[in-house]
Amino acid sequence: MKLIDYEPIVGKSTIEEIRMLASKLEGREVVNVNSTYVGGGVAEILNRMVPILQGLGIDARWNVIKGNPAFFEVTKKFHNALHGRKESISDDDFALFLDINRKNMAEMDFHGQIMFIHDPQPSALIEKKGAGGKWIWRCHIDVSNPDERVWRFLERFVIQYDATVFSAPAFSRPLPIRQFLISPSIDPLSDKNKELSKQQIDAAMERLGIPRDKPIITQVSRFDYMKDPVGVITAFEMVRRSVDARLVLVGGGATDDPEGEKVLAQVKERANGNPDIHIISGQARTDIEINALQRASTVIVQKSLKEGFALTVSEALWKGKPVVASCVGGIPLQVKHKLTGLLSHGIEGTAYGIRQLLANPDYARWLGENGREHVRHNFLITRHVRDYLLLFINLDHTEDVIHL
Ligand code: UDP
Repeated sequence: MKLIDYEPIVGKSTIEEIRMLASKLEGREVVNVNSTYVGGGVAEILNRMVPILQGLGIDARWNVIKGNPAFFEVTKKFHNALHGRKESISDDDFALFLDINRKNMAEMDFHGQIMFIHDPQPSALIEKKGAGGKWIWRCHIDVSNPDERVWRFLERFVIQYDATVFSAPAFSRPLPIRQFLISPSIDPLSDKNKELSKQQIDAAMERLGIPRDKPIITQVSRFDYMKDPVGVITAFEMVRRSVDARLVLVGGGATDDPEGEKVLAQVKERANGNPDIHIISGQARTDIEINALQRASTVIVQKSLKEGFALTVSEALWKGKPVVASCVGGIPLQVKHKLTGLLSHGIEGTAYGIRQLLANPDYARWLGENGREHVRHNFLITRHVRDYLLLFINLDHTEDVIHL
């Protein structure tokens, strides 16, 4: 994908600004490190961001730390604990975390001018800072209210970085290092988000085995407790008392998320064979199929209990879909209540929101259209690329907090 291809969507001045900024960074090495190539929002973004940066003349790379199942069990517990959930984490867990990070240190190439480390899993790689370069910790999760023990453990790594990046002001922590606030993004030209023809949508829905005979309510999310798929089913059952509809829960796994199978089993049990509840799991779903499903849906739900940014919400809004989503994490940045969607609280609130949208199609359409414009101006990858370029340029300066 070339930058020029985005011009019809975001306008000429945005493209020119990106080119101007990139010209100051030509040849700069930027090494991204995270913990999975597939599944979840971080991989989704890096898949698109890295080639665009390369196309702009930046030597952008992407490495993934190697871990074993026990390591990912531990990092998933860290993830939950940072979101404020109670987890029992032993001294051995902390030791394993360090051990795997150190093994990766021995194997990875650290010769980047900018080391861009994503999320807690590889955060201890900072011990390699002596190899040179500027180090950025890019935290995609909301750590405003974490389990103190886990945060204190990670903090001693975090404060060694040159800068941190959080997705929103409310996600961050007081830290003695520079903080940048940059929200994530979606790529309007990726298979996940590009326009599809009616035939493409019809064909995908047929492959997914979802009839189009009644309104479709959808949640696209990893099967994760924090995404509350069981709560979505309960809300759907409440809706079904007055409106006929189908529910689709689609969720692939992420290689760094070991909890998926357990949650999926609970979801299946809760759905109890209801033919109007479609549970689609596994890696086999293509981005085009997810795209088509989002486009074929009447209402998109994101009933998370905790969230990072929630790219699934940006994806839905970009497709002009009316959204009912919990007021957690990055969702209220995207869903402005009664303007770009409906914010909900709890299961009953979600059911109420869905019913309202199903009963008022004109209102639902208006919300969806507003949502699309909100995403166009704030959450597309071009804005994200621009913010990262500014971040790289700014790394040589000394301000404490920079709002991009
Ligand atoms: N996703 C997907 N297939 C699935 C479930 C999720 O492609 O079965 C994608 C989804 O479209 C989104 C990303 O994974 O792009 C999830 O990002 P989000 O920020 O919503 O949540 P995370 O998984 O990072 O907590």
